[in-house]
Amino acid sequence: MPFKSRNAWIDMPTDLTVWDWLFDSPYSPISKHPESELGGYQNAITKERINYKQVKEATTYLSTALVKKYGLREGETVALFSPNTIWYPVAMLGTLRAGGVVSGASPAYNVEEMTYALKSGRAKFLMTMPSSMQVAAAAAKNAGIPKENVFLLEGEMEGFTTVKELIEMGKKEEHIPAFKIPKGKKNKDVYGFLSFSSGTTGLPKAVMIAHQNVIAQCLQIQQITPSDLRRVLAVLPLFHIAGLVHGLHLPCLINAEVIMVPTFTMEVMLNTVVEYKFAELLLVPPILIRLVRDPIVDKYDLSFIRRFSSGAAPLSEEIIQLLKKKFPQTGFKQGYGMTESCSCITAHPPALYNYKFAHTVGTVVANTEVKIIKEDGTEGGVNEPGEIMARGPQIVMGYLGNEAATRETFDADGFLHTGDQGIIDEHGVVTILDRIKEMIKVKGIGVAPAELEDLLLGHELVEDVAVLGIKDEYAGELPKAFVVPKRGVQPSEEVARELMKYVRDKKVRHKWVKEVEFATEIPKSASGKILRRVLRDQNLGAARGI
Ligand code: AMP
Repeated sequence: MPFKSRNAWIDMPTDLTVWDWLFDSPYSPISKHPESELGGYQNAITKERINYKQVKEATTYLSTALVKKYGLREGETVALFSPNTIWYPVAMLGTLRAGGVVSGASPAYNVEEMTYALKSGRAKFLMTMPSSMQVAAAAAKNAGIPKENVFLLEGEMEGFTTVKELIEMGKKEEHIPAFKIPKGKKNKDVYGFLSFSSGTTGLPKAVMIAHQNVIAQCLQIQQITPSDLRRVLAVLPLFHIAGLVHGLHLPCLINAEVIMVPTFTMEVMLNTVVEYKFAELLLVPPILIRLVRDPIVDKYDLSFIRRFSSGAAPLSEEIIQLLKKKFPQTGFKQGYGMTESCSCITAHPPALYNYKFAHTVGTVVANTEVKIIKEDGTEGGVNEPGEIMARGPQIVMGYLGNEAATRETFDADGFLHTGDQGIIDEHGVVTILDRIKEMIKVKGIGVAPAELEDLLLGHELVEDVAVLGIKDEYAGELPKAFVVPKRGVQPSEEVARELMKYVRDKKVRHKWVKEVEFATEIPKSASGKILRRVLRDQNLGAARGI
């Protein structure tokens, strides 16, 4: 029997789109607060700000211009390729209002990676920043997106229309009605977002996130969010599911102010934290590690922080203890989930905001069931370890254009395979024990070994290769390549350096290979699948000198 959430059941709206829910329904902050009390999105540096009523207006005009002037049709994808800016939510919500689909991509992507993201997300439009325009323009060309469909979220550049100009264009037109969920469908059947994840195996895939997934997740998290969360620091990238939910939609639902930090440095972040006196800080493990290790932190009085929130990757017991020691006034919480669960499957409710529970990932969020599948394939009971599987309204629709991967990842009963091993105790508290899937987590961002293996297999010196994650103090994990060189190639430092440079030249920084180890053979199953567990055990053994 699956473990059911013990939280109160939430009645989920089944017909609303995300835009209607946030701006034209009883859930809307605009229907609950006078304009003077409305939160909004604010740039921490320039102080440029747009409140939620202005977001409603701007997205109405933007959607009108996209449809009437540029011919955007329902279901077409607008790719966002940008660091965090207050115009990101405007672009996202404007696209949704028009019935379009938004896909996010890391602003650090190179032309090849961005081309892949545009093509696999079937993008027809692209919105970016001047700093990313070179890559954006080249990738758009490769993906067949005409130049007039490439827009600027901020700044100005000769020959490119800005989002602000689109908004002005839309103002002059009679505005289009907001997109509605088509008759005969529910908001769980219509996706509004695409986000890339490698899931449990293989290459990154475009995850179809339905309107209902985002609505449900925000309501699930709202249920366990204390009322002191008035300001949210959005350092997590908005292209990642954690940023999309906790830094963009949830704050709007709860009428909190979002402070955007466009480019991250510890100094900018700490200055912003002190200026805005956040009660809660949602961070990823690499930043939490710097909070306890970086001497710059000691220059700041952070005694107003009431709790830290962590997610997207595991946080070590050592760092948890250091946090507790350095910030004794704080509580601690974390969320656990994946892109395919539209962020959280479990999270700490307020009763567990305590370092005593920091090594756990809290309890199952509302309307959600979790199964533990043991190695023998049977269902585990209390305190029995196994793969975590989850079912609920936040579990996504599947992978775009990839039926096989969808069937492999979501079972016939609608349970998602997380590829994570964990246990659930008698109080319903979940602990993650291990990651059994291939994915490597670098600074909270997923890296698919298959992507790096494909690349390295194309190198003339490489006969065979397997990539694994190895532990790293700051990044959590970094990729390591086990390489079988081509016949006649002598393994050497030079060859290793050449291969690492090859990856550096072709992939975004978080995918760079930290180490190359030469091997005579890659362990494989009879069907040719890399036996990653065997390789990992061998690697651990070698590291311990066995
Ligand atoms: P992504 O799709 O990029 O969000 O990656 C999801 C994966 O990140 C999960 O399947 C876990 O392996 C890992 N993860 C996310 N949150 C946590 C957490 N709180 N603790 C441990 N691992 C986590």
